[in-house]
Amino acid sequence: MAWLIKGGWVVTAERVEQADLLIEGERIVARKPGLATSSADVLDARGKYVLPGVIDAHVHYQMPIGNLWTADDFYTGTAAAACGGVTTVIDYAEPLGSGDRLEEAIERRLEEAGEKAAVDFSLHLVLLPGHEEDTKALQAAVERGLVSFKIFTTYNQRLSYTAIKKCIQASQEIGALVTVHAEDHELVMSAREKLKAGGRTSVRYHALSRPHEAEVEAVRRLIDIAKECQAPLYFVHISTAGAAELIASARRAGLQVFGETCPHYLLLTDKVYNTEDAPLYLMCPPLRTREDNLKLWEVLSEGYFQVVATDHCSYTPEQKLSGTAFWDTPAGVPGTETLLPLLYSYGVREGWLSLPQLVQVLSTNPARLFGLYPRKGELNPGSDADIVIFDPRKEIKLSAEALHSAARYTPFEGYTLKGYPEATFLRGQLVYYQGRFLGRPGQGRFIPGKLQI
Ligand SMILES: [Zn+2]
Repeated sequence: MAWLIKGGWVVTAERVEQADLLIEGERIVARKPGLATSSADVLDARGKYVLPGVIDAHVHYQMPIGNLWTADDFYTGTAAAACGGVTTVIDYAEPLGSGDRLEEAIERRLEEAGEKAAVDFSLHLVLLPGHEEDTKALQAAVERGLVSFKIFTTYNQRLSYTAIKKCIQASQEIGALVTVHAEDHELVMSAREKLKAGGRTSVRYHALSRPHEAEVEAVRRLIDIAKECQAPLYFVHISTAGAAELIASARRAGLQVFGETCPHYLLLTDKVYNTEDAPLYLMCPPLRTREDNLKLWEVLSEGYFQVVATDHCSYTPEQKLSGTAFWDTPAGVPGTETLLPLLYSYGVREGWLSLPQLVQVLSTNPARLFGLYPRKGELNPGSDADIVIFDPRKEIKLSAEALHSAARYTPFEGYTLKGYPEATFLRGQLVYYQGRFLGRPGQGRFIPGKLQI
């Protein structure tokens, strides 16, 4: 099977150029203007952008929490991803407890994802207290293709700052990248206890229950640790101006510190917690203020954040509204399908990002950081033919009805999108075209990461 994508504006991390792309089988075989062939199906891309498939580097599909499961399993989650131009997702292999062997957690997750995924996938490995000591298992994980570890400074699965230092050192020796959810546990708990004592337990108080300072303090301490160890460190879902500034200044000082943020932290504010729909917007860390939005855009625009991902963790409105307080409402929002069009409409069109920057933060940078480059995140001959045809003239009002997540709602309902994916190719197969998902479960493959930073 061959495809010729003709006459589009090809966007890479470096430039925008008019060129044709020839796909044979699963790979791109040529990229230049004026390609001709009689043996390929032709897709006319005139007036459209041709982008490398998006990598959503932070998703949670098919995840149990208490006695609930996320609305999206690996099939519905990745089908929705394909419809948004996302061709690779990075989910998590998570041990059941500190006693669970990492190797088993990995094999279990590979099986769950492999059966159902409709786009390619990779996995971060969650480490629980104690796992950071098991360097043999960490080494084996890297050899299996899981080259990034995920740790927490809060929740039950948190590691102490001392354990985190050990973890960062062990990972550095192996060459794996540590990614961290940074909110200082003590600050979160003391805010929560104060609210509880005052009877302020509804979702309205969610933002106050996980204050800005909790993120800022954890990021500050972790940057110090990274500096001491001279090791790389990746911060997931940064939400506050304070933490963004710390990451920017650490990078200016030459540290290998990486920052990720999400569309909801760029676009939404904590004002929604005063509305009836508050539970639908509950995620951790919480939404912040307009000033935080603007600082995050600024830091992203200046290149101090490397990745925008979604932390897609979807529940239905019924599930979200089942909680009684801010601490027992399922946390997370859907997002993968709307990642690219939101970032194009509100990032590129608003002047925060150039088109090459859009490709950097959505595709090339996550591919590099998580060891998938140049197979993913690139449009060179030899790369996987993961391609999005993006129509910058298509204008829509975002509505959950047109989306494919089993969440059945979007936190961005009613947002105007100027530009939308028209077609998605996964390794040379057309898996999405003009609103319709054309792929199938199990079509996605595990892409083992190879160390590169
Ligand atoms: Zn997450």
